[in-house]
Amino acid sequence: MNTSSILVIYTGGTIGMKAHPMTGELVPFRFEHVLEEVPELRKFGFRIDTHSFDPVIDSSDIFPEFWIRLALLIEGQYDKYDGFVVLHGTDTMSYSASALSFMLENLEKPVIFTGSQLPIGLPRTDGKENFISAVEIAAEKDREGHAIVPEVCIFFQDELFRGNRTFKYNAEEFRAFRSPNHPPLAEAGIHIKYNHKYIRYPDTWGKKLRIHTRLGTDIAILKIFPGTEKRVVEAVLGIEGLRAVILETYGQGNAPSVKWLLELLSAAVSKGIIILNITQCPAGSVSMNSYACGARLQEAGVLSGYDMTTEAAVTKIMLLTGLFSDNVRVKYFLSQSLNGEFS
Ligand code: ASP
Repeated sequence: MNTSSILVIYTGGTIGMKAHPMTGELVPFRFEHVLEEVPELRKFGFRIDTHSFDPVIDSSDIFPEFWIRLALLIEGQYDKYDGFVVLHGTDTMSYSASALSFMLENLEKPVIFTGSQLPIGLPRTDGKENFISAVEIAAEKDREGHAIVPEVCIFFQDELFRGNRTFKYNAEEFRAFRSPNHPPLAEAGIHIKYNHKYIRYPDTWGKKLRIHTRLGTDIAILKIFPGTEKRVVEAVLGIEGLRAVILETYGQGNAPSVKWLLELLSAAVSKGIIILNITQCPAGSVSMNSYACGARLQEAGVLSGYDMTTEAAVTKIMLLTGLFSDNVRVKYFLSQSLNGEFS
């Protein structure tokens, strides 16, 4: 029998709503009574404890301070549990999962984010299945007692993804998340099938969890479109104290080859602003050597973000600019995969 212990952390979002038995009105679900509300969980025989954020929030209200609270909570409870399930609104779930993947260094236990498109209290909810499977995955251990998925993940609609590879793809369908640049780590059908070769395992087990709680927010995202005006680029690159810009470009990392754009980017790089090139395409990678307009960006000092999602790029830069005041180390670590965030 699996005697795992799981901490369920409820942060808010659609999943935590149920219909009031008298009025039918949607009210927050009482997570301290989780085993009464989702009795199916008892059948696992796991120890399941709960922690509810107070107040619970719509995930649109999430700021980096929230990630710090979450990381501190996981650190404080780390030795007591085999795995963690974070119930979270779907809107910013990929940002939170990406942030935590960078903030929790040497993670050896599952941290599984999930949520739902329909409240858990509605008859057609996707919340129960997402929740129950996330708990099962968080509890899974091998014969030596090591976690099967020692990563920060998102479980949604029968797929388990590496958190920092995901984005919210669909505002309505139950299959709300995608991870086009990295295969699912597990698929839940009759059995949960783990794709072990895509899961990251520590080189040696038993390292101490280390958390990073300094996040830099002097960053901006600049999305290029046909007609992007010089004054807009100037305004963004001219922001006082700006440390980094995520430049969302076309295709394999291309941008208009107009002189003013290259000059502005190159001047910003010379001033010490880090510019990271991310493709607007949901799948595939930046490859600045493929076209002349990409190569010019590289000459201007723009760095490749490879096949990172915007969510991973934003949170990785927050972590690195929070950790290091010098750009040399920020640039070095941007070129390294820290937690499987690029291929
Ligand atoms: N707005 C909600 C949230 O992100 C949507 C959801 O949970 O699905 O908190």
